[in-house]
Amino acid sequence: MQMRDGFIGTIGQTPLIELRAASKATGCRILGKAEFLNPGGSVKDRAAWAIVKDAEEKGLLKPGGAIVEGTAGNTGIGLALVGCARGYRTVIVIPDTQSQEKKDMLRLCGAELHEVPAVPYKDPNNYVHVSRRLAEELAEKEPNGAIWANQFDNVANRQGHFETTGPEIWDQTDGQVDGFVCAVGTGGTLAGTGMALKQRSDAVRIAVADPGGSAIYGYYAHGELKAEGTSITEGIGQGRITKNLEDAPIDLAYRIPDEEALPIVFDLLEHEGLVLGGSSGINVAGAIRLARELGPGKTVVTILCDGGTRYQSKLFNPAFLRSKSLPVPGWLER
Ligand code: PMP
Repeated sequence: MQMRDGFIGTIGQTPLIELRAASKATGCRILGKAEFLNPGGSVKDRAAWAIVKDAEEKGLLKPGGAIVEGTAGNTGIGLALVGCARGYRTVIVIPDTQSQEKKDMLRLCGAELHEVPAVPYKDPNNYVHVSRRLAEELAEKEPNGAIWANQFDNVANRQGHFETTGPEIWDQTDGQVDGFVCAVGTGGTLAGTGMALKQRSDAVRIAVADPGGSAIYGYYAHGELKAEGTSITEGIGQGRITKNLEDAPIDLAYRIPDEEALPIVFDLLEHEGLVLGGSSGINVAGAIRLARELGPGKTVVTILCDGGTRYQSKLFNPAFLRSKSLPVPGWLER
């Protein structure tokens, strides 16, 4: 019998999909790692499980304990489902600006939601800091204790990608991988995968694809954390060097505007049948840039982070796109 062991056993070992139009346009082989096929629907299932596994191994998380995190999306969904599968309560602190779809999904996954006003990171009432304090309180109060997942600075996150995503890509390409590129939210995917690939071959080029509004491009291109522009993509963009990003082996950086990324998302759906979210568009645009830089005949891998159904009211809504002066694909209007 061929089977996987529940939710946890179904995380990872995702296929690499050859992206036809991107490969044709560059004369390279451009491959997307299908992270949207993880059981919680995104690349963040890997980080969620890696963080919980690490806490279990360190004896920090007891049966029936609580997992607390400040997150608006995929990490919360991953943590909530890992919690269901392993017998933990999940408590999520979410900025009140987040979409109803995400709040509904988190509740559906069994998470306890605490909505807080959206304020900048430097404000002590920012959702990340509120989640840390709530974890400290629950750790004292709850009979079974609580942990703070701390996805940005907990390096169990990138370790998960170092142990799974990177080696999988190496094995799936028989070591024939010339470049890897993706965007940064926490930096766990880029750093962990990049480190694993570099460990196997120093020649692999690692690149970051950064959306508007994020400071990471400026840091790796010019040594200065500086944000420019805006983006409607979600789950990516960062204003600081998180612990997960520290010492990441990054060779190249690209700033990708939404005008370049969104037509790729729409084309992948219309012509290749892949229903993806906005960050996948930033990633594939980055893969095309890296492929052009490396030259024809090379193999470039990127991440297809999550599916498009999480963004129906924005990315796939003509009225929303028009309100942001972004291009509306023809088939959405029909
Ligand atoms: N894409 C999406 C849709 C995400 O939710 C995230 C995680 N926030 C990322 C990309 C970035 O992944 P990482 O946190 O590993 O940098």
